Amino acid sequence: MNATLPVLSVRNLKKHFPIRTGVFSRVTGHVKAVDGVSFEIFPGETFALVGESGCGKSTTGRIILRLQNATDGSVHFNQEDVYAASFQRLRLLRKEMQIVFQDPYSALNPRLTVGSAIREILQVHGLASGAEARERAEDVLIRCGLERYHADRYPHEFSGGQRQRVVIARALALDPRFIVADEPISALDVSIQSQIINLLEDLQDSFDLTYLFISHDLSVVRHVADRVGVMYLGKLVEVGDKAEFYREPLHPYSQSLLSAIPVSDPAIKKKRIILKGDVPSPANPPAGCPFHTRCPHVMEVCRTVVPELKATAEGRHVACHLVHPPA
Ligand code: SF4
Repeated sequence: MNATLPVLSVRNLKKHFPIRTGVFSRVTGHVKAVDGVSFEIFPGETFALVGESGCGKSTTGRIILRLQNATDGSVHFNQEDVYAASFQRLRLLRKEMQIVFQDPYSALNPRLTVGSAIREILQVHGLASGAEARERAEDVLIRCGLERYHADRYPHEFSGGQRQRVVIARALALDPRFIVADEPISALDVSIQSQIINLLEDLQDSFDLTYLFISHDLSVVRHVADRVGVMYLGKLVEVGDKAEFYREPLHPYSQSLLSAIPVSDPAIKKKRIILKGDVPSPANPPAGCPFHTRCPHVMEVCRTVVPELKATAEGRHVACHLVHPPA
């Protein structure tokens, strides 16, 4: 049990997108992109949300920051209800909660030098203007491994890795406490991915940052995360400490994901678990356990009863009837 208060507390968060059909655009169903997700992130921690493409992890990041509105649930940032915040208050909160997107190419305005882009953000938030804004913009670019003269360059003059450094610098310029890093390296060459990961780790130490790290890549998550949450069809199916999770994943879906990552030690023999079938549509998720259509251990109860995310005796959290047999 962590006695420190969380930086972020997410409770039963949902995002259901309406499906509209016909000439009258009547709502005929919902895509349950995020469907009742709860977790906490503590100061200085990196909490990784993992899962296959389309599992709802990026949508979770966006609705935490209110870049899109949630359908239901709550988000508290430093004990403040983000969804109760007024427009003015939300602007102030946004200084403290930033996001780094996957694609540094589309995240930057091609018509602005990177220095102007950072100065603009400082001015909009009333943090600095004129020479002071210029000084701060250059300073934060240097902290992110770039040079002072880069402030006068346009985005197209940078490599992919440098652009992601610029995007990170722009997020840091507002001196945030919490950053959602949404697949921050997956659009980059493998050769420079580790540089950006190292940068994020260095910045976490020097700026006292807390991260929500969203990734489909469990090899990367192993390096950066303190705790891991696994999502499947909009739900968290396992949450736990990184070391325990990688040593012994408890949920069958986590086991299959981890069986697919290469191990460096040839003495360790791993059996690859190949899942049958595709991920069902979040517009029409299966009854009972959302994973039951693909689970190698499916039981009769799994087809009708939804397993709750519950703590084990060791304090790990898993949503599976194998781990928590129904009474
Ligand atoms: Fe598999 Fe049943 Fe556990 Fe779901 S609840 S993961 S179907 S064993």
